[in-house]
Amino acid sequence: MVRTAQERISDLFALAEQEAVRGHHGLADRYVGLARRIGMRYNVRLPMEYRELYCRRCSVHWVEGRTVRTRLRSRRRVRTCLQCGWVRRAWVTGRGSSPSAPSAGRRPADQAELGLTAEAIPADSGTGGAGVDEGEEEE
Ligand SMILES: [Zn+2]
Repeated sequence: MVRTAQERISDLFALAEQEAVRGHHGLADRYVGLARRIGMRYNVRLPMEYRELYCRRCSVHWVEGRTVRTRLRSRRRVRTCLQCGWVRRAWVTGRGSSPSAPSAGRRPADQAELGLTAEAIPADSGTGGAGVDEGEEEE
């Protein structure tokens, strides 16, 4: 049984999430680091939803309010790593508000914009129209 790098990465992020919930932030950070190393080794790009979950500079697992601060500035979402001070900016587009989206439990718009994890908002993620478009500024 050979597991793909992709699967191992998802597993590691799931574990990181789990440990963070339990308060084991050191472990969460290590899992993120491992996932990134697998990604680099096998030349696999981490899925967009995972790239929201850690700091690209110091690999710390991002937990809103603890290791990352998210602010909306005009149409940009600015996330600041509280560990190393790295700032990540992403454009926010209005694509998430399509009328075809499931209307059950309509969430406040700012919740999506604050970049809560994809697991937290199953509604329209995965279709590429989760409301946040990564007009990301690569370094
Ligand atoms: Zn950082």
